[in-house]
Parts: sequence; structure tokens; C-alpha cells
Amino acid sequence: MPDPAQHPSPQRTGTAGACALLATALLAACTQAPPDTSYERDIVAFGTINHLTLYGVPEERAAKLADEVDAELQRMHREWHSWHPSELTRLNAAIAAGEPFQVSPDLAELIARSKDAYLGSQGIFDPAAGHLFALWGFQQDERPTGPPPSRAEVAAVVAEQARMDDLELDGDTLTSRNPKVALDFGGIAKGYAGHLVIARLRAQGVDNAIFNAGGGLQVVGSHGERPWRIGIRGPDGSGVLGAVELGPQEEGMHTSGNYERYREFDNKRYSHIIDPRTGLPAEHIASASVIHPDGATADAAATALVVAGPEGWQEVAKRMGVTLALLVDDQGTVYITPQMQERVRFEQPPTKLIVGD
Ligand code: ADP
Ligand code: MG
Repeated sequence: MPDPAQHPSPQRTGTAGACALLATALLAACTQAPPDTSYERDIVAFGTINHLTLYGVPEERAAKLADEVDAELQRMHREWHSWHPSELTRLNAAIAAGEPFQVSPDLAELIARSKDAYLGSQGIFDPAAGHLFALWGFQQDERPTGPPPSRAEVAAVVAEQARMDDLELDGDTLTSRNPKVALDFGGIAKGYAGHLVIARLRAQGVDNAIFNAGGGLQVVGSHGERPWRIGIRGPDGSGVLGAVELGPQEEGMHTSGNYERYREFDNKRYSHIIDPRTGLPAEHIASASVIHPDGATADAAATALVVAGPEGWQEVAKRMGVTLALLVDDQGTVYITPQMQERVRFEQPPTKLIVGD
């Protein structure tokens, strides 16, 4: 497959060309109006192909804005990487050495958002559990192979009790009470980045945009007359489950599951989403989708709901301030909040649908 980063695909669509056919008297008005066009750009970052669409922005300006978004994403990807040398790996080294560390404003904000999600989820969303994610082989570029870690290895890391609330942020100085804390923002960084992308575009006067980062996206405005219409992916190979409309106010949607990053051994699949209480990969929920105005919350909550499972998801959603959620378990049963049920148009009615209260 060609590397899309080297073949950015600015495209013009729509009816701007029709202006040329109008009488001269109308031409001035025509050039002033925002163009009825989309500008599209693929950006490789966060280990995935991200797709940016700007609507109603003149092409030259859109291209410049997309360049800026690209540069910003590369910076975030570089500085928040959990295992390639980054600001985050330097911070983790300082924590392991029991030393304080001065964090940049962006990273401080990401830590603050993560702590909120940790508290809201009552600890099942915990980016401080990086040693667990590493133990399961999810801090490396390749998919892990071979047998999973032993129960004793898992128990030893769980006993380290690394938690987000071991961290203290005083101004820009971060300290950890527990040197076993290793931060990994794989469950929240893309959602926070999506918000930063849309916030930057809005600050530059862009009213209509969508930023799609694989498992998650962030929107503002609409696609001209039409709202942004998004497919919700079902678990592994099941295609699109249904569609929702997002916007016009800023909104994010994130889906977490075991269909993209996982490991397999002896015909058993191990999810990359780990329950920090047991140290074991989450089971039962194949995918969870969350819509929330704040991208970081949507991303973190999607991960947390996978851990919470069929029994706990409603309580965790409520505590995280999430009213729009849809989960699919490994039997194909769909769990949904009443508010989400109102917004989703299912492709095919699910065989079993459980509506929350
Ligand atoms: P994706 O990366 O596919 O969008 P998620 O948003 O669910 O999926 O993030 C999964 C990643 O989050 C894992 O690869 C790991 O880095 C991290 N993670 C795994 N379990 C947890 C957890 N319980 N709490 C916080 N982060 C987690
Ligand atoms: Mg997530």
C-alpha cells in the first residue's frame, strides 16, 4: 500500500466551479462566500493513518492549516510516546529514579485529564499501569508472540500498586510517591489530540472540520447542509454496526476493542486493554463506543467501559459523565444507553439489545 503521508490528497469537491458560470455582477459575491468544498489530508501519526477534512475553507488556506495540524500531531506523537525516547519516557525514568520532573504544559494537561478519568472510572482507567501494559507486550512496535506472561509475573506487577493518584503535580513539577508508576497514554492521548486539533482549527476561524484517527474522531460544525455522519464499527470483521450524526457543536466519538491490537496464543485472544485490578486483559466486551464533547473523555471512557464489562459499564459511564455509549459483547449482544439509542441508526437491528436505565 502506498504510504499516504507521501501522497497527501487535497481534493476539491462540490460546486465551486458553478461560480464561473454566473453573470459578472454576481461574481464578486461568489468569490467572497466560503467555498462549498472539502479539503482532505491523510496524516500518519500515533501509529495510524489519520484523516483530516476541512469544509468551506479556501484550498490554499486549508493546505496551510493541514500542514500545521500535521506538525502538531508529529510533535504530540513524538513527545507522548511510551517506548520510543520522548518527554514521556524521560518522565518515566525520573519517576523510576524517585526524582521530580518538570513537565511541559501539554503533558501536564494530559496528566490532569488522565487523573480525572482515573477518578471517574474508580481506577479501572489507569495510565499509571504502564508496567502491566509492557508485561503483556503492548509497549513494542510489533504484535507480541508466544505464551502470555505467567500468573506469578502478573501478580508481581499488580503488587507494585502503581496508580494515577500516586502522582502529585505542583505547578509544572511532577513527583510520584511510587517509583513503579510508568505512564502510558495509549488509552487517552488520541482523544486529547483530536480535541487539540479541532480547538486549534476553531481558533483559526474554521467552523467545519472532522479529524479521524482510526478508532476515534473529533468534529465541529457540519459538512455544508449535511451533518457529519459516522459509521460505528462493530467488533472484528462485523463491519459497520450503525451510523450516528455528530456536531454541530464540538463532539468526539471513540471506539475501543480487541480487534486491532491484541495477542493470540493457543487460539485465545488477549486484548491490549488490561484490567489494572487483576492485571489481566479485559474479556467479554468486544467493543465499546462513546460519544462525548471532550475527546479525551470519550477516548478514556471507551477504554474504561471495555474493562467495566457487561456488569459495570453503566455505573462507570455515569461516574465519567458519559450518556452516549454503546457496547458489544463477545456474543454479539448490544448494550446501549437510552440517549445513544435515540442517535444510532442500526444497519441491521441487533439480535439482542439491552437498553440501560
Ligand atoms: P486504541 O489504542 O486502539 O484506540 P484504547 O483507546 O482502548 O485503544 O487504548 C488502549 C491502550 O491504552 C493500550 O494499548 C494501553 O496502552 C492503554 N491501556 C490498556 N489498558 C488500560 C487501562 N485499564 N487504563 C488506561 N489505559 C489502558
Ligand atoms: Mg481509549
